[in-house]
Amino acid sequence: MYGLRQLLEQVEDARDEPVTSAGRVAAAVFFCGLLRIRSFNALEPKLAEKPFLHLVGAPAQRDRLCSADTLSRSLRGVVLDSVRSIAVAMLAKAERNKVFREGWFGALRYVALDGWEPICSFHRHCPHCLVRLVEVKQRDGTVVKVEQYYHRYVVALLIDDRLDLALDIEPLLPSDLRPDGGTEDDEDEGELTAAKRLLRRVKKTYPWLDVVVADGLYPNGPFLTLIRELRMGSVIIIRNEGHEPLREATHIWGDQRAQQTFVDEQARERIELWDCPDLETLESYKGPIRVVRGRVTDLRQSDQAPHTWCMVVTGKATKLSAEQILRVGRGRWHIENTGFHQWTKLWKFAHVFTHHGNGILALYWLFFAAFNLLTLFLYLQVRCYGRDRGKDVTLSARTGDRGFLRVRPAG
Ligand SMILES: [Zn+2]
Repeated sequence: MYGLRQLLEQVEDARDEPVTSAGRVAAAVFFCGLLRIRSFNALEPKLAEKPFLHLVGAPAQRDRLCSADTLSRSLRGVVLDSVRSIAVAMLAKAERNKVFREGWFGALRYVALDGWEPICSFHRHCPHCLVRLVEVKQRDGTVVKVEQYYHRYVVALLIDDRLDLALDIEPLLPSDLRPDGGTEDDEDEGELTAAKRLLRRVKKTYPWLDVVVADGLYPNGPFLTLIRELRMGSVIIIRNEGHEPLREATHIWGDQRAQQTFVDEQARERIELWDCPDLETLESYKGPIRVVRGRVTDLRQSDQAPHTWCMVVTGKATKLSAEQILRVGRGRWHIENTGFHQWTKLWKFAHVFTHHGNGILALYWLFFAAFNLLTLFLYLQVRCYGRDRGKDVTLSARTGDRGFLRVRPAG
């Protein structure tokens, strides 16, 4: 359905007349991700197995595709657009096939953004590494500051009640590689800067997206302004009571009882909602902001304190009910659970397959394509798979690591 073979064959890299084409390397890395193989060393024996060679479309006379070193070399010189376009083409096809047509609440399509730091090391580093000083306790008890190298990204994930899909990824750049021409003395780039660059590209690539869902770092004027410029809406968690516009809303609500209280029988939760539309308290954002507060009491564990969520809402998300806004805000955990947690614990995405800025990004693009393809397969082709496991979106993908993923041995 997605023309995967053709998409992989379009991948290009910087090597001159390679024996193993960039497309075949991309195919090997794609299946390494899909089959959750833990490292290129673990993949290496497979590169000489007939079923794997057949899977990646190697010519019949080849005994071995290539070495693990060749995989790394190819990834380091990959033309990023050529790998990114695999996942993009698959998602465009899914969109044309009306997979996202229904949307989630209010028939809107939601994209969650969050920072992700899959790789950090005291020893190994590359020119694309970010650097920070960390305090490390020595054997004799003294504390010294040591440089730690890491790669941090902002990830965009489509969130929905049925399936979560990886849309895009953008690195935080070290100071000397910043597009605004920073120098080595400048600071490394912050998450918001990378997130803005990412969101512009995401909206351009997937114009059908409607609402940005994000966490505490993001409810500020410049970011909300960008969302408005892109004609999107937002549901953003705000945590700090002292920050506008939550401070103003809290002041207005005072000690008032909730405007709406009900019990969600299925979830066994009591929900209390406060709603404050049309605040204009941010100097750096010209326009109305709605603030919703939801207090959730778990009726199964009545000894636990209720959990309070506050959300800043703008643009087309303001048409949602307060209850829907609370559910979207709480849905933000999909990016941590379906995304980062599973990619690290169940998939092998946080392993350092190759340590190079371009190589890591190329690898994630291929792994995201693999993750998305499996997710689409489970939800669209094996419908009962999701249904039998109830409504927990993240659960089905989690249990998908058995059975579907074996390469059958020859014969
Ligand atoms: Zn690095």
